[in-house]
Amino acid sequence: MENCIFCRIIRGEAPAYFIYRGRGVSVFLDIFPVEKGHMLIVPDEHYESLHDTPPRIAAKLFTVAAALVRILRNELGFPGVNVITNSGRPAGQEVFHIHVHVIPRWHGGGWRRLVSRHRLTDEEANEFIDMIKPYIHIIDEYLGEVFGEGM
Ligand SMILES: [Zn+2]
Repeated sequence: MENCIFCRIIRGEAPAYFIYRGRGVSVFLDIFPVEKGHMLIVPDEHYESLHDTPPRIAAKLFTVAAALVRILRNELGFPGVNVITNSGRPAGQEVFHIHVHVIPRWHGGGWRRLVSRHRLTDEEANEFIDMIKPYIHIIDEYLGEVFGEGM
């Protein structure tokens, strides 16, 4: 997809703060975070949303989500995490390349506070990347367990 912003990020034509790349999946920071550490899990191949994503790729996205929740809760001590995908404009989808939001929650408020308030800063991005970097191998462990080591 020529003009898709996520395809452009994955091709290296637009900037992003990457957390993980590999096995056909990328994780990078949302540029308008709800809270610090708000990540997007995006397949390298373009599909519009969960309704047209092949099951194997959907399973990969949610396996990565499970690994990230494990890292956030068990390793980094976040007391809560939201995992959300918006399918279709009425559901709030804004970029039509499937992505799963993983949002660490410190402040509570549940669904009511899921509103972006600021643009991501370099300082905030780098601070979070330094926090999560030591645990990124857990993503590969999860993917290896579900899909095998080779792919
Ligand atoms: Zn795309």
